[in-house]
This record gives sequence, structure tokens and C-alpha cells, in this order.
Amino acid sequence: MKHYEYFNTLLPHLTANREGPVASQIVPSAAFGYASAQEAEAIFAGEAPKPVYARMGNPTGGKLEQALAKMEGGAAAVVTSSGMGAIAMVLTAFLQSGDRVLCAGGFFGGTYAMMKDTMPRFGIEAEFCDVDDFEKMEKSLENGAKMLFVESVGNPNLRLPDIRRMAIMCDRYGALFVVDNTLTPLIVQPLKMGADIVVYSTTKIISGHSAALGGAALFRALKDEDEKLINRKFASIHPILKKGKAALMMVLKKRAMRDFGMSANAFASFLTMVGLETLALRTERVNTSVKKLAQLLHDEGVKVRHPSLADHEHHLRYEALFADGCGPVVTIDCGTKERAFAFLNELKVPIQTANIGDNRTLALHMASTIYRDFAEEERRHMGITPGLVRVSVGLETPLVLAEDMIGAWKKSIG
Ligand SMILES: *Cc1c(COP(=O)(O)O)cnc(C)c1O
Repeated sequence: MKHYEYFNTLLPHLTANREGPVASQIVPSAAFGYASAQEAEAIFAGEAPKPVYARMGNPTGGKLEQALAKMEGGAAAVVTSSGMGAIAMVLTAFLQSGDRVLCAGGFFGGTYAMMKDTMPRFGIEAEFCDVDDFEKMEKSLENGAKMLFVESVGNPNLRLPDIRRMAIMCDRYGALFVVDNTLTPLIVQPLKMGADIVVYSTTKIISGHSAALGGAALFRALKDEDEKLINRKFASIHPILKKGKAALMMVLKKRAMRDFGMSANAFASFLTMVGLETLALRTERVNTSVKKLAQLLHDEGVKVRHPSLADHEHHLRYEALFADGCGPVVTIDCGTKERAFAFLNELKVPIQTANIGDNRTLALHMASTIYRDFAEEERRHMGITPGLVRVSVGLETPLVLAEDMIGAWKKSIG
């Protein structure tokens, strides 16, 4: 809990101005005037730290980038138009036709579709395995998979990866290790556990208010002799790596953002900073509530799934590695689609929507919405059963939530 006290002190000040307007300024300009032809040349050469053009980043997004890098202990950050934008940026900046990416665990639907259907159209193949299938993971990395991608907590299958063990494996085989930390900002710190890159959908918990779509990629500093990246399999980024410790930022900007344009807009970055100020306070509250709610539901016979419960297969890993919780998501298996619909329609507090990490509790039937386009076997891989309802716990009183859900369960299922 000391941890939260540190962030409660840090975060509200990260984006504030101590003189003049305290809130961050929104700079809506797409273009920026250069003082002279010489300055224009210097800006384009990356020698003068001034904005080039908003597709390459704007000052409001720049402020959010600095705040996120500080929060995560990263060398720098790049903010994007959405979480999918951040993932697309990382994949297209580092991979090319003929490369393979190893996907461990069941993913958020958009990420899974991207890996399974979209990237293969550009010659980048994905392999899938469970978070605990270390044998397959090792074989795939040994055979040259260039990147390992994992979610810090499977959304919505709630399987927990052993991030440190995966990081060691990636270092051994020279693969880039990317962690989607959308569900666990502050409580899991992947860069400190050996990840090379962290991606976020800031739309979710970092904002908390459902008012701004956004994403971010953060990365570790380059080392003097960066064994992983100086390998010839990363030859195509070698000219950019000469730019110093934060060179990975240039890799993302020059090889993805400039050409694909998944840039964040200033207003969304501003709203994201407003959310960031209270992130630690909200995180502590939500993670305490999730544990309480899961236990209350479990005690009343609701088929609830969460790693804090002793019957979850990763309960021991949860206790050892996720001391402060594992984010806002719990799932409830209602058995069938019909029962799930009845349960959802009985709920009075949760809002039915395809989002998580909101200050309000949200709920959604998985198989008929986000996962509707997937084959039966793919749904099984991602832990999507026919009656699965995902709940994202908000700031409300957990007792009120429990009462609402237990009532709805009894009316529709019990
Ligand atoms: C929502 C989500 C994304 C995608 O983010 P958007 O901001 O909606 O594009 C990626 N990963 C995870 C784990 C998510 O929950």
C-alpha cells in the first residue's frame, strides 16, 4: 500500500503547472511555425526539440508522454489515438513480412483479431499458446519468433502470466517482450520485471471517465551494448538506434506513426491527464472493492471467477505476484446465453457497455458482443463460455454492487 502513497503524491503533480494556469494547456494546432529555414532543418533533423507537425506529436500529448514515462519508469513514451493504435504502432515499427509474433494467453478481442487476421495479410504470422505453456513458448522463441506479446491479466479470461519468467526467456532468445498492461497500471510494472515495451489502452483505467479514446507505448532505455537489439534480426532499425537511450521512441515515430498516423489528438490527451491525476486513488479503491465483491458473490453461490478466490487456478500466483490486485475485471458464468441476458437485464447499477476501467461499474455478455465473430474453438482458447458476463468494477460501494448482483442472480438463475 506504500506503493499507492508514492503515486498519490506523484501523479497529481505530474501534469500540473506550478505557475500560471495550473491545468495543462490544450494546444490544438496541427502545424507549428519554424523561426527560420535553419530552425526548420534542425527540427526535422531531431536536433531542436520543437514540434514538427501534429502527426508526429503535439505539445499536449508530449506532456502526457512525459507523465506516463515517469509513472512507468520508462525512458520515454509515445501516445496514440487508441489502444489498438498503440499495438498497431509497436507491431508495424518492429516487425516485417516473414516475422513471427508469439501471443501468450487469451486476448482482448481487438488484439486477437489483429494478430489472427490482420497482421497475416501483411506477412506477419502469429502463434498462440496458453500463458502456462512454457514448452511451446520456448520452442517458438527458439525457432525465431521475434516478439512475445502478453496481457498482464487476460481480458476477460483472468489468467495471470508469470511476467518475470517470460522476460528471462525472451532475453535468452533475443525476442522483444511486449506487455499490454491496460488492466493493471501502477499495480504491475512490466518494465521493472524485464519487459522491453509496455502498451496501454488509456481509454480504460488511466482515464477512468470514458471521455477520451487513447493509447500509449512505453519502453525501457537502450543500454550501451544492447545485445537484444544489436542482433542482425533487428538490422532494419539499427540506423535509428544510434539516437541515444530513448531511441525506441524514434523507432516508433519514424517507422509507424509518421506513415500510419495513429497520433493522439490534443483534447484526448488533456482529458487523459485529468484522469491520470487520480489514478492511484481509484486503483486502490477498485482493487479493494473487487476482492470484497468477488468474496461476497462467491459466498452467495454466484458462479464468480477471480484470482483472489482460492478456487482460481492462479490463486497462488496472484498472492505471490499481484499483491495489490489484478484490476477491475471479474467474470460471472451464468451457464447459458439466455440466463446471462436475464441476469444482465435485472442489474440496476452496472451499465451494459463494451468498456472496462470506468468509474462506473460496467457489464457485458461476451459471446454475443465482442467475441461474436470468433469460431467456437477460438472462443474456448480465450475462455469465452456461452454464459460468460464480464463485469468491470467501478467506484461504487461494493456492498451495493453485491446486493444488486446477488438479487439479479437469484431472480434469473438461482
Ligand atoms: C480496450 C483494450 C485494448 C484496445 O484499446 P482501445 O483504446 O479500445 O483501442 C487493448 N488491450 C486491452 C487489454 C484492452 O482492454
